[in-house]
Amino acid sequence: TFRALVVNQINEDFSCHIQQLLMNDLPDSDVLIKVSYSSVNYKDGLALSPNGRVVATYPMVPGIDLAGTVVSSKDNRYKQGDQVLVTGYGLGISHYGGYAEYAAVPGDWVVPLPAGLTPKEAMIIGTAGFTAALSIHRLEQNGMQQGKGKVLVTGASGGVGSLAIAMLSKLGYGAIASTGKESEHEFLKQIGAEEIISREAIGAGNHKPLDRQTWAYAIDPVGGKTLAAITSKLIYGGSVAVSGLTGGSEVPTHVYPFILRGVSILGIDSVNCPMELRTAIWKRLASDMKPANLHQIGSKEIRLEQVPEAVTAIFQGKVRGRIVVSHV
Ligand code: NAP
Repeated sequence: TFRALVVNQINEDFSCHIQQLLMNDLPDSDVLIKVSYSSVNYKDGLALSPNGRVVATYPMVPGIDLAGTVVSSKDNRYKQGDQVLVTGYGLGISHYGGYAEYAAVPGDWVVPLPAGLTPKEAMIIGTAGFTAALSIHRLEQNGMQQGKGKVLVTGASGGVGSLAIAMLSKLGYGAIASTGKESEHEFLKQIGAEEIISREAIGAGNHKPLDRQTWAYAIDPVGGKTLAAITSKLIYGGSVAVSGLTGGSEVPTHVYPFILRGVSILGIDSVNCPMELRTAIWKRLASDMKPANLHQIGSKEIRLEQVPEAVTAIFQGKVRGRIVVSHV
């Protein structure tokens, strides 16, 4: 047997407990992995909540990220001893995920751990960092270059935000960090923010349809009115990569920035990102994009039993950077 965090919902009765599972309890999938690390994301928080609306079927082992070592594989691309990682797809949502000592997943979901990353580092990055990297990649495809103007990052002290700042800094773009937490200014400077502004300074909810041209590019995991304000303040030809909704899902915007300044909103999805792009991004995450201060961003390491309290902290907006879950 092995340990797993299991959530269940029967009618109104929600439960979340550590249980002993048998190998037979795992889904019938090609690649069996001994999980060494997982991580805690906002979406994992929803999976651990009653009526969180992300879990497709109960009971479920949540955990949308995992890194570990292949124990056995029916897929000939993988063999015993290979170090691998998995993020997204149905992991921890419709298919038992990373909050367990073992996982069985389809070979098509598996990414070889790139040289240059330890399993723990891969999980400090996790879905949040992969999303930050995808955002940078999309912005670069849309013309982001050094010297073109300032790059804004919202939700700066969170997972996507803090990793985006560290990666932008590593790549030489620099970043303006927007945060709601004054207590995190020092941390944000340490991970590479060149300037820090308050959440209010973005002007969500009180911006003009076409406001002062302020930022060339933006990485926005906050969404909602914040995204609307950003579009009205991008410079001519600028773009914003949107990945999240911690600030709300409704975006009350006007067409003016799009038709008069040619600005773009780029949508970022990490879950079903195609494998070719996925492996290419993970290789960059192990090389040119790998933040210098990764261990400072992911300084919090917890055990399986501490996941529920970590999730509470995420919902209360009290988390700095990333939390990794260790099974070793
Ligand atoms: P997180 O670690 O909880 O960070 C979210 C940050 O947003 C907080 O630290 C806070 O930063 C800020 N924030 C919180 N509440 C806010 C509010 N009401 N208004 C404005 N800002 C607020 O979460 P995460 O893992 O980075 O994920 C962020 C978002 O991206 C979530 O919505 C998540 O579901 C989404 N996401 C999407 C994808 C994708 O594939 N599209 C992948 C990963 C994550 P400050 O206090 O510093 O302002």
